Formats: sequence, C-alpha cells, structure tokens
Amino acid sequence: MLIDSHVNLHAPQFDSDRVEVIERARAAGIALMVNICDRVSNYPAVRAVAEAPDIWCTVGTHPHEAKENPQLTAHTLCDVARDPKVVGIGETGLDFHYDLSPRDVQAAVFRVHVEAARRTGLPLVVHTREADEVMGQILEEEYARGPFRMLMHCYTSGAELARRAAALGAWFSVSGIATFRTAEDVREVIREMPADRIIVETDCPYLAPVPHRGKRNEPAFLPKVLEKLAEMRGWSLEEAERRTEDAFFALFDRIPRP
Ligand SMILES: [Zn+2]
Repeated sequence: MLIDSHVNLHAPQFDSDRVEVIERARAAGIALMVNICDRVSNYPAVRAVAEAPDIWCTVGTHPHEAKENPQLTAHTLCDVARDPKVVGIGETGLDFHYDLSPRDVQAAVFRVHVEAARRTGLPLVVHTREADEVMGQILEEEYARGPFRMLMHCYTSGAELARRAAALGAWFSVSGIATFRTAEDVREVIREMPADRIIVETDCPYLAPVPHRGKRNEPAFLPKVLEKLAEMRGWSLEEAERRTEDAFFALFDRIPRP
C-alpha cells in the first residue's frame, strides 16, 4: 500500500484543481493521505479535505505560525483531537532557519503540542530546521516528563539529532529531498535510520521529487520518493512498500488498517 503521510492539500496552490489532484493520487495507487494542519485557526479548512474516506488529518500549529497564538493550550488541541479523523498532533517544532516566529514562542508552543500528544496518545508530527541542539534538548526533557510518540517529518537535520530522537523511539519520514542531487548529507542520515520506523511523504505542494523538481508537488509523485528510499536502503520496491506501510500503521494507530 502506498501512503502519503504528509500532504498540505488545503493549500491555496490546489484551489483551482484539488479534486483532480486527489483523483490523480488515487489513480497512482496512493491509498491513504494525511492532511497536515499548519495552524489551529485553519483547522476547518484542513478537516474539510479529510471528509474523503482515504484522507485523514492532524491538528496543530507550524513553528512559522506559532506567533498566531502564543497562549495556545494543550486543552484546545486535545479538544479538537476528539474528532476521530484527527490522527496526529502538529505539525509543530522549531524552525531557526526562517525564524518567522520568535524562538521562545516556537519552543513554548512546541511544548504545548508535546503535552497534547502525551495526553491523547497521538503521534507528534515534528518539523525541525537548524535547531538541532535545542530540539534534542526539548525532546529529551519532555520525554523524561512522560513518554510520547513522535515523527521527525521530512528529516533533513543532522545525524546527531537523528540519533537522539531515535533513542526516544522516534519515527522518521523521507521526502523528495532525498532525490535531490546535492542532498548527499540527507541520504547519509537516511541510511542510518531505524529500518522499522521509516515512512514516506511528499509534503506537497512543496519539495517535488526528481524529475518533477521545481514544479508543484502532488501525492501522485510519491512513488519517486519510495523508489529512492528502496535504492538507498538496498530494499526491493515491494520490501520498501511493505516496510513503510507497517511503520505507518504502527505510528498512526488511530487509522484502522484496511
Ligand atoms: Zn514541515
């Protein structure tokens, strides 16, 4: 089964042809998609896409948007997450590359998401960029306060943070970046990820895999990511598909496995 674990189908880039994009995904064999919430205030639009039986969603606020509500509470997130279509908390985390929200606000809002993941038992969808040391520290501190499950999505950070997160039981997702010619450092880390905790994503409309690089990405391009993962790990395509499917359902365990 092909599963796109991270799509942004509510994004305005899909406003003119969302129905066709979803149809092309199904025609390409994508059996399941998780539409990722970028800010809590946008949840209704995120959830609307997940009306389809093969699309699920999350609730949370991206670190870029953390400033929209520095007072966000775990209670609010947990309340929305009672909706059975919500299968994860996030995406959330730290992005010190763009710094679109103040770093202390990003960190505080991130910890609120951790608390919601702990209370609901749902996986935390983590975005991290140029924040390896602080991210590692917060994950370890929070984990010591009480366990939670986490996905390091579209992982492009360092090997050391990957090891620290893996030691806490983290899952990792691989995106189209793995196909970029210059991304050898990213591939190096992917080769070391725990084999039973790797899944794949497009992160569409961003990060289209080669040979679509530079174009708008869509779920139908996911097989290019899976092919690259299989090649890098020395797995057959069938094995890569089976392994990522097993890992996906172990993590997103609110989704009934067909
Ligand atoms: Zn992200």
